[in-house]
Amino acid sequence: QAKSAGRNTVRFYDPSMQAALDRRSTLENELRHAIRRGQFVLHYQPQFDNTRRIIGAEALLRWQHPKHGLIAPGDFIPLSEQSDIILPIGRWVLETACAQLNAWSCDERTRELRLGVNISARQFRQPGFIDQVCNVLEANNANPQRLTLELTESMVLDNVADTIQKIEMIKRLGVHFSLDDFGTGFSSFSCLTRLSLDQLKIDKSFVLNLPEQGTDAVIVTAIITMARSLGLNIIAEGVETEAQRAFLDSHGCHAYQGHLFSRPLPVEAFDAFVSGIYA
Ligand code: C2E
Ligand code: MG
Ligand code: MG
Ligand code: MG
Repeated sequence: QAKSAGRNTVRFYDPSMQAALDRRSTLENELRHAIRRGQFVLHYQPQFDNTRRIIGAEALLRWQHPKHGLIAPGDFIPLSEQSDIILPIGRWVLETACAQLNAWSCDERTRELRLGVNISARQFRQPGFIDQVCNVLEANNANPQRLTLELTESMVLDNVADTIQKIEMIKRLGVHFSLDDFGTGFSSFSCLTRLSLDQLKIDKSFVLNLPEQGTDAVIVTAIITMARSLGLNIIAEGVETEAQRAFLDSHGCHAYQGHLFSRPLPVEAFDAFVSGIYA
């Protein structure tokens, strides 16, 4: 294989490197078939307001692999984002989430819930994304007001002009927007004011060491103050302890998501969780 390799050509002579590449291409190949094989599933993590009332959920993708079991998105989303595999996956997630919104609309305990869906950069930038959102909502008879698209700070910054325009078009449908993992990128105050966002999501890395870690406490307090003055709803992710919740609450955070309340749940368990609240 390396026989006639010239300059700037990768030579695959390292057996461990070759093994890693093989694993990767096997995974890529399996990913291409995972939708058709019905191996993807969405789990739903409940979100709560500061009176501990459930207000919504975030849809989180899992891959039920026949050999490796349930695979977390961190182990296959980055790979699928390197190619167009993320496009059908992203569409499947949106369709499944919208079908779930429709199912929830039939029960008074779930009809008011909002559902957050993570959108990857490649998916958001693809031509026709606006139509996709519109079509998927319509085909599944889902209420756009209940759908929140989660974008990350880094993808927004990648092309601010395109982002502003797309958000505005999609918001006309009634869909909401959340800026995920906030604080991990470097968006400026002026950039934030130019985007028609509804919500900022404080990244869990800042929540982890609250309230003891002085720097994180300062950052979180500043984020909340800024978001509130911009009229944005603010949700903290990764809330694991009552002390973290209390700190966030005392600084004016609006909503919470994390293991303190619930882990992400398969839909049957999520529905049972909601029934339990109202029982
Ligand atoms: P994210 O959107 O920031 O999602 C929050 C992550 O935090 C989830 O990890 C969730 O399980 C985890 N989490 C929630 N509460 C706690 C807590 O109290 N403590 C800790 N330590 N973690 C908590 P998950 O499900 O592994 O997802 C990881 C990332 O994968 C997501 O981060 C998101 O960026 C991406 N992802 C998940 N589903 C999708 C999807 O459908 N499409 C795309 N494009 N990305 C997705
Ligand atoms: Mg998210
Ligand atoms: Mg996040
Ligand atoms: Mg995160």
